[in-house]
Amino acid sequence: MKPKYQINRNKCKGCALCVTVCPKNVLEISDEVNRKGYFPAYQARPQDCILCGTCCRMCPDVAVTITAEEKKTEKVS
Ligand code: SF4
Ligand code: SF4
Repeated sequence: MKPKYQINRNKCKGCALCVTVCPKNVLEISDEVNRKGYFPAYQARPQDCILCGTCCRMCPDVAVTITAEEKKTEKVS
């Protein structure tokens, strides 16, 4: 099954660490605020994502997850 990539926009505090570390320049910071008043990261170029998991490992707020199946919540490390 195709892995599912997800950023929990309301967990994100917009620190942009993931944007900086992504080797494929997939991520950008949104210009719309989330529930906490932060500008969250999103996949601006999802077609370029190689699912390397670097953004998941780097996010201090564990806002990014890559799941093997829709029902699983396990993080790929
Ligand atoms: S999984 Fe890798 S390629 Fe995809 S957005 Fe995260 S850091 Fe970038
Ligand atoms: S590293 Fe995490 S908290 Fe920071 S912008 Fe990316 S998803 Fe949001």
